[in-house]
Amino acid sequence: MSYLNVTEVESAVVSLATAFPSLTRLIALPEPSVEGRRSHALLIGAESVAPKDSCVLTGGLHAREWGSCEILVHLAADLLEAYQGHSGLAYGGTAFTADQVRRLLNGLDLVVFPLVNPDGRRYSQALEPMWRKNRDPAASGGDPARIGVDINRNFDFLFDFTTAFAPTAGPRVSTDPLDEVYQGPRPFSEPETRNVAWLFDALPRTRWYVDVHSHAQDMLYVWGDDENQSVEPDMNFRNPAFDGARGAADDLDYAEFLEKGDADTALLLAARFCQGLHGVRGRTYKPMSAFHLYPTSGTSDDYAFSRHLVDPDKGKILAFTIEWGEQFQPPWAEMERIILDVDAGLVQFCLAAI
Ligand SMILES: [Zn+2]
Repeated sequence: MSYLNVTEVESAVVSLATAFPSLTRLIALPEPSVEGRRSHALLIGAESVAPKDSCVLTGGLHAREWGSCEILVHLAADLLEAYQGHSGLAYGGTAFTADQVRRLLNGLDLVVFPLVNPDGRRYSQALEPMWRKNRDPAASGGDPARIGVDINRNFDFLFDFTTAFAPTAGPRVSTDPLDEVYQGPRPFSEPETRNVAWLFDALPRTRWYVDVHSHAQDMLYVWGDDENQSVEPDMNFRNPAFDGARGAADDLDYAEFLEKGDADTALLLAARFCQGLHGVRGRTYKPMSAFHLYPTSGTSDDYAFSRHLVDPDKGKILAFTIEWGEQFQPPWAEMERIILDVDAGLVQFCLAAI
């Protein structure tokens, strides 16, 4: 056993749909990647009369973070086998009963989209292991060094960071195609990014979103542009009065508004993830807001949560980013242990969410 290649990730998703037809729905993403690869997501949930809320999980936005895809494929397989077999789940020292597995899939539609950026993964596995972006040559001018857009900077959230952020903030995002955090020419310029947004539109009852990345051993929640505050609603990403003030650490000029109830729930769910993970073999992940890793714009989690604030017709999606492990491509034996860690955390997260 080793890391799955691009074809194997896709066939694993399709095989699970074939093996568990009454518990799954295969979702074809509408847009092929830049190099023409087609992707599927898998909806997992028991049939129910009443519509259910959804939790969307994505992986593989960053090409070199190989294990994210396996984490999501294994989570799907574990839950489906346990539900069908009327059994519980054991991840090292963290265990879930058969009743908990039933409660999860009876109460929730879990949607896994394990490989958002297949071209990047293929390139990383075949040629350049530390490749991060997609393989879009549009802004390269024929220079191979300028190929690719960072999918997790290409979402529509404070995309014009030179206007939005303080000159001293130094958010980890770039307008230069040579840079590994190149944001692309405009929000949603990349088909891989548009596929993720399409999934939220296609599943309007999505209430939770977790994007799986590596590495830092953190469970991050919104926001990523600045510290959070719950007392000044007008101090928010939509208000141009605060342009040039965002993103500085430890200042009084700006902090991003997050309602107290949402802030409490986000911290609680992040903590529950870390608790489930810790029980497996004692690894300690830290729940914190994304800004405390580093300031960003255009990330998937901030976009997901910002949608209901930009457009009140859209549902509220509480959004998170996992940063698993201590290296991008651990030896497979260690990756297998990380898969157990993170999947136990995700099951605990879902049980706390519903
Ligand atoms: Zn990443």
